[in-house]
Amino acid sequence: PVLQTVDAAGRFIDAVQPWAGMFVKEADPLIEEALRERGVLYRRGRYTHTYPFCWRCHWPLLYYAKTTWLIKTTAIRDRLVETNQEIQWYPDHIKDGRFGNWLANNIDWALGRERYWGTPLPVWQCDRCAEQVCIGSVAELEEKSGRSLKGQDLHRPYIDEVTFACACGGTMRRVPEVIDTWFDSGSMPVAQWHYPFENKDKFDEQHPADFISEAVDQTRGWFYSLHAISNLLFGEKTFKNCLVLGLVLDAEGRKMSKSEGNVVSPWEVLDAYGADAMRWYLYTAAAPWAEKRFSVELVGESFRKFLLTLWNTYAFFVTYANIDGWTPGDGDGSRTAPAKERPLLDRWILSELNTLVEAVDTGLANYDITGSARRIAEFVDDLSNWYVRRSRRRFWKSEHDADKAAAYATLYECLTTLAGLLAPYTPFVADEIYRNLVAGAAAAKDAPESVHLTSFPAADPALVDRELMADMRLAMRLVSLGHAARNKAGLKVRQPLAEAVVRLRTPDEQARLARLQDLIADELNVKALRLVREEGDLVTYLVRPQPAILGKKYGPLFPKIRAAAMERSAELGPRLRAGQVVTVAVDGQQVELAPEEVEVQLVEKEGYSVAEESGYLVAVSTVLGEALRREGLAREVVRRIQTMRKDADFRIEEPIVTYYQAAGEMRSVLEEWADYIGQETLSRRLVEGRPPEGAYVEQHRVDGQEVTLGIVQASERAGA
Ligand SMILES: [Zn+2]
Ligand SMILES: [Zn+2]
Repeated sequence: PVLQTVDAAGRFIDAVQPWAGMFVKEADPLIEEALRERGVLYRRGRYTHTYPFCWRCHWPLLYYAKTTWLIKTTAIRDRLVETNQEIQWYPDHIKDGRFGNWLANNIDWALGRERYWGTPLPVWQCDRCAEQVCIGSVAELEEKSGRSLKGQDLHRPYIDEVTFACACGGTMRRVPEVIDTWFDSGSMPVAQWHYPFENKDKFDEQHPADFISEAVDQTRGWFYSLHAISNLLFGEKTFKNCLVLGLVLDAEGRKMSKSEGNVVSPWEVLDAYGADAMRWYLYTAAAPWAEKRFSVELVGESFRKFLLTLWNTYAFFVTYANIDGWTPGDGDGSRTAPAKERPLLDRWILSELNTLVEAVDTGLANYDITGSARRIAEFVDDLSNWYVRRSRRRFWKSEHDADKAAAYATLYECLTTLAGLLAPYTPFVADEIYRNLVAGAAAAKDAPESVHLTSFPAADPALVDRELMADMRLAMRLVSLGHAARNKAGLKVRQPLAEAVVRLRTPDEQARLARLQDLIADELNVKALRLVREEGDLVTYLVRPQPAILGKKYGPLFPKIRAAAMERSAELGPRLRAGQVVTVAVDGQQVELAPEEVEVQLVEKEGYSVAEESGYLVAVSTVLGEALRREGLAREVVRRIQTMRKDADFRIEEPIVTYYQAAGEMRSVLEEWADYIGQETLSRRLVEGRPPEGAYVEQHRVDGQEVTLGIVQASERAGA
């Protein structure tokens, strides 16, 4: 039985004497006094404790035991636990952890709510004999009440007007309660189809659902209500996969809260970087179930790293395709060589692309959203910073040859496939790219108008060349070593150097990289590149065993170890630097030396700068002859003019006339390299002398030498 000493107004009932009718809080001091008088007051005082308040008006509340309606879910507890085992949870630990525990400790579901708004509890009760009927359909209620409920609002107050006669002669009226709203959300799978009254086939086809997703706080909310109702109705699960989302925190990793004032408004982020940037950040920052920091700055950083790189690559393609009038599948397009017959660089990026498609498809099928997104980002980085970077000249050159057509077709295929891969991630950017490049293309009249109406990209395994990908990866690595060697010597990339020597680890690598030799030389801006197995006299190694470590370890044996190791410096040095453990024989004993136990000095040959990593070594010559130095100056002038073209807002394909005023060596360099500078900067002519009125003019200092440069549009000049 439920025993209450307080009524609904918070006053003591008659049985509580002498305080009957008094508000409980007002009775506090009187009860205290009564206890004191009876000599049973042990101690009085105040202490702080948590207390329930109305969330809306902050009025203090009293806990109150009430009778209510419950669903006896404890009766199906075992089934709830069993069917949970068939669900794939992401992350996995929710299954037997948070959710599994909640099910195992199941308590009956408190269903009734004493509120006005909500789904009415469909129970009618006789006002005379207290007989109860649960109504299962509108038709049943119509039949019982003898009235049509067509078009009738089935909520309060209208539903409460529907009554019918009880067998005892009394009147059946609906009980006043409404239902817990979690019951509504948990009924979604059946309610959305108005099952079982309609759409039985659709329901059977779609139940249980493949996938649901919500935040981790829904374990006791939606995840549970869905699972419980399905088990109550059908004894089975209602979703096969559940992706549980972690909470979004502020920039410092604190939970966002209104009272703390650290809430990051999504609108601020959306206004600054757009919805796609926000989505991409949330996908890539951490696994979906991990907590994530969130701020305008974090999203901005991710935006610049990925979306901006993608967009610049896309814009690059569009700019040049427009200049050349290239369209997919037109005369130019149909003459494009099949992917397998295109230049190495094209075959490489298409191999990477098809590998990516396969990886993303598999990844998403396994709910690896973050890993798949990160792979896309890596590809876009390769596409922009290697493929386009290495292909720039192919788009730029004036000949419309097979090489150029292949470059266009390849970049086009990469961008349109990326649009497909990105459609679920960044729907707006993906569709923008797709609509312009595919749906908007004249040749693609039959293409669906949106990327979201197309099939997900499918990989072509025939275009995957693992060896080529590994070789290119190695070439990139060597190039970055080469750049490091240049940096060390303070030599800018624009300064051509006489040679680079690359030491590889195996004869096999040496043979395989031969086909990428020109590409590496070009990227490193060297006149010659040698791939070798032995670095010869470019560097010498000096192995110095560390007395602090090895002295302690081997005691009196150490001097001999040191001598033996130093003597074999040339042989052991590269291996130790590559992280290998080596052995030396001392007094008939094999002594192992680990890389951290020895210092290996690398002494570069005069005139070379060397960088080494994991057994690979790149040496660049640092001696600049007169000719190289002059070429370096010419290249620097080219760069300055190109920047001026941009600053002057000239169109990329706009021919110009360049004026220069310089003295001494600079003047003779400009004369000697006039053709080259003209080609690179689209200057029809290089004219010595004062730039005309209206020219875009800048003063430059190149390597300590003064030069005045002025540029005008060639067409304007012709018209004048
Ligand atoms: Zn209130
Ligand atoms: Zn009755």
